[in-house]
Amino acid sequence: MPEINDADTRLLRRAIELSTVATANGNRPFGAVIGSASGELLAEAANSNRQTGDCTAHAEVMALHDAAAKGLSREVLAQATMYASGEPCVMCAGAIFWSGIGRVVFGIDAVSMRAFRKLDQGAGDLEWSCQEIYARSPRPIEIHGPVLLEEATAPHTAYWARFQAD
Ligand SMILES: [Zn+2]
Repeated sequence: MPEINDADTRLLRRAIELSTVATANGNRPFGAVIGSASGELLAEAANSNRQTGDCTAHAEVMALHDAAAKGLSREVLAQATMYASGEPCVMCAGAIFWSGIGRVVFGIDAVSMRAFRKLDQGAGDLEWSCQEIYARSPRPIEIHGPVLLEEATAPHTAYWARFQAD
């Protein structure tokens, strides 16, 4: 796996921090940051599903909305990295593809998240790894993860512990 640099670690940590902002607002623990090639934070968001009642309000999609609101150009996005606290789902992987972003770094992977999802009665996931999705992309999309797995798992452990107590 190619190297993750200090800026990657810093921006992924910010995405993980945003996952706790999401839960503080009643949402599931997911955060996302869009960073420039030089490590500058360009856009960010937390999951806001429960808050907004919008099932598409995943952190990565919301970060892309923030990028659009800030007027980030296609050229800037093409050089950018999406940092996601959790491995992007099918919808978000698609949104990242359409944004033109060429690099993804994520914290906790989908397989590790399965253990938590089991606690969510009746919830299933449309499971398809980012690697598999991007293998079909006509342009290369670099993907790195899991990165900072332990740190990225902590907000999920805290969030789902509430349901285990019932
Ligand atoms: Zn998603």
